[in-house]
Amino acid sequence: MNAFHGITLHPDTAAFLARKQRMLIGGEWVEAASGETLPVMDPASGETFCRVPAGDSPDIDRAVAAARRAFESGDWPRARPVDRERLLLKLADLLEAHAQEFAELEAIDNGKPVMMARHVDVALSVDFIRYMAGWATKLDGSTMELSVPLVRDKEFFGFTRREPVGVVGAIIPWNFPLLMAVWKVAPALAAGCTMILKPAEDTPLTALRLGELAQEAGYPAGVLNVVTGLGHTAGAALASHTGIEKIAFTGSTEVGKLVGKAAMENMTRVSLELGGKSPVIVLDDVDPAVAAAGAAQAIFFNQGQVCTAGSRLYVHKSRFDAVVEHLAGIAAGMKMGPGIDPGTQIGPLVSKVQQRRVMEYVQSGYAEGARAAAGGAAGDGPGCFVKPTVLVDVREDMRVVREEIFGPVVVAQPFEDLDEIARRANDTPYGLAASIWSNDLSRVHRLIPKIKAGTVWVNCHNIIENVMPFGGFKQSGIGREAGRSALELYTEPKSVIMAL
Ligand code: NDP
Repeated sequence: MNAFHGITLHPDTAAFLARKQRMLIGGEWVEAASGETLPVMDPASGETFCRVPAGDSPDIDRAVAAARRAFESGDWPRARPVDRERLLLKLADLLEAHAQEFAELEAIDNGKPVMMARHVDVALSVDFIRYMAGWATKLDGSTMELSVPLVRDKEFFGFTRREPVGVVGAIIPWNFPLLMAVWKVAPALAAGCTMILKPAEDTPLTALRLGELAQEAGYPAGVLNVVTGLGHTAGAALASHTGIEKIAFTGSTEVGKLVGKAAMENMTRVSLELGGKSPVIVLDDVDPAVAAAGAAQAIFFNQGQVCTAGSRLYVHKSRFDAVVEHLAGIAAGMKMGPGIDPGTQIGPLVSKVQQRRVMEYVQSGYAEGARAAAGGAAGDGPGCFVKPTVLVDVREDMRVVREEIFGPVVVAQPFEDLDEIARRANDTPYGLAASIWSNDLSRVHRLIPKIKAGTVWVNCHNIIENVMPFGGFKQSGIGREAGRSALELYTEPKSVIMAL
């Protein structure tokens, strides 16, 4: 396949798509033990364009055994911190050298615009691996002065070591397939862990290609294993496996709870990055055109399939009509098309299932009295498109206001004062992110501590940074990825007390 939707593919992309896809276990590219495969669909046309192995419990067992062997023997446990740093830097260089191929694979597999994939997903992934590479040589402990009672005639010395947690299972979603893989792979490998990565069934391709690059970079067999398969089979087998020490999950709150319960059964360390229903709060000093552009970026980026999507827009009542009018204009003007087309601004959703789910939410909004100021319908044709949608005349008790839609749908409501807006912004089970739009520093600073969210943006939204901890309050998850906090997820502190 040399072209997709009339767009000529990079030769490396075409070469990857021409290969029979296998999964990576113990340094070998293998089929599923069952021999079964899963279809991979082009969301812009609804057609299957390749197949990947349907890994299941026996494949997870094989991968865990390979990761265990690699963790306990061979070259990996002997690798010095500086070797782990070098390998990650090599992986980042290879990814950068293949940036266009990864962007095209992501655009074809997920549906996202290829320019976004290149300049957001791939660029952030390269930077993130390099950032985490630096941590491999900076994992340290502390020395402590001890005050041991009773044995006064002895001296004691205490210190802590930070050790890799062990074999890690990582289950990732389909909205940022490469970036979410890298958010788990890079800190785990920097810390000296070995791992099994299970990509989402809808978007397995870049994880498989990342496995190839890891081999090329020189990672020993079994350090990184990639098992493709379904969530309720391969994913569930990984989450409940007694052979892993840590499970890292990103996805829905519903499945996150299942993964958390399975982990607790074995006392497996667990981190969960889950759903959100993030508010965008526009105060009365903001230019409506600026606020609308910000709100559009907050909700329509990645077709709204973003855990931090600004899906609840609250605008001071003095600016509400103007902001909604501008936003509806932006939504109506966005160019919809296949992700692989460089002119596309809004691509299809990832799957028919997701398109149906989002459209059911829109219909429920209509049934409860909401009105579409823009969009509010699926795209024409067989692809999984949903038009960028702005819903107004909504109430706090509507499903479209309360539940995560995970599509290009924003609900817009007016508010009157700061106390009211803090209460309404927090009136959700989620607490992942929020943005405040205002140049009034005093009011912004008063609002920030009141917002129950892991990230608060001011005059921006969806800015993800390698160095900043990322995660949620409340039902948006447990733990913080990115920044120094990510290393804590993949290491265990060990206390050592020596009698001298
Ligand atoms: P899921 O939470 O079901 O999927 C996330 C990952 O978990 C995928 O790899 C999935 O595999 C896997 N998985 C599914 N079931 C299990 C299980 N029982 N045990 C272990 N792993 C499992 O999200 P969906 O893809 O179904 O999307 C549903 C909704 O979740 C979206 O509409 C959105 O609201 C939310 N979501 C939120 C995300 C976020 O970043 N906050 C990301 C993705 C979705 P498989 O792909 O095979 O199902």
